[in-house]
Amino acid sequence: MSSSEGMLKAILAKYYYFADQVRRELLTSIVRHFFRYSQVLTYHRVTSHRLDGDPMSVSLNDFRNHIQYLREGGYNIISMDELSNKLRTCSLSSRDVVITFDDGYEDNYIELLPLIQELSVPVTLFTNTAYFNKIAFFEWNQNLDQKARFISQESLQKISSASLVTIGGHAHSHKALKKSIDNSYEVLENLRLLKLLDIKPAYFAYPYGRKLDVCKSAIKLVSKHYRLAFSNMPGVICRFSNMYFLPRYNITNSNFYKIFK
Ligand SMILES: [Zn+2]
Repeated sequence: MSSSEGMLKAILAKYYYFADQVRRELLTSIVRHFFRYSQVLTYHRVTSHRLDGDPMSVSLNDFRNHIQYLREGGYNIISMDELSNKLRTCSLSSRDVVITFDDGYEDNYIELLPLIQELSVPVTLFTNTAYFNKIAFFEWNQNLDQKARFISQESLQKISSASLVTIGGHAHSHKALKKSIDNSYEVLENLRLLKLLDIKPAYFAYPYGRKLDVCKSAIKLVSKHYRLAFSNMPGVICRFSNMYFLPRYNITNSNFYKIFK
């Protein structure tokens, strides 16, 4: 690696953690222009029960349209293992997109699974483990119908055996992994409970995932147990990215086409 490449790697490895939005967008444009990169998308729920005003759900039809738009635009939707291998071998393609879902909702099993099987789309589900089969209560689920329910253990076990699905960790009870939190418990209990279901997760997404939600010691802890870890900071992934604070684009019903314009 040349010294200029080394300097760039140092800047990019830190920029999602330290840079403000303007600098991050500038660096993202530089990466998009000069390097091969990949993009990871964050969804939460794809459901026919989507209600107006709910930013964390996408209707089945809109998700179908997103996939069709990507494929017609020449993008390949690849699995998390493929992304990991391409990062390791420096063979990223700017046409590659990875699709992830956060939290673990029951409709991921009931409604999303049949749709991704029909469309042959690989997805990764980052799953909490403290709320199996409970009615979803996060602030973004408030005022929704009672159908927003966290996934049950049985459904998680079934969906994890589908060839298109990768299960990842998302901390036990969805607390932001700040200094004041028992991060070891959050990360390791999540891992332990997933392993009890015969799931051996290799990828992790930080709850909330902004830099103020993730302390450095949490990143270090996650790096000991996982192959890659994801923030919720927008941006693209290149070979210089920090493997334990990778960016993702959070998809709401209204912003998908702005990202891929
Ligand atoms: Zn989450």
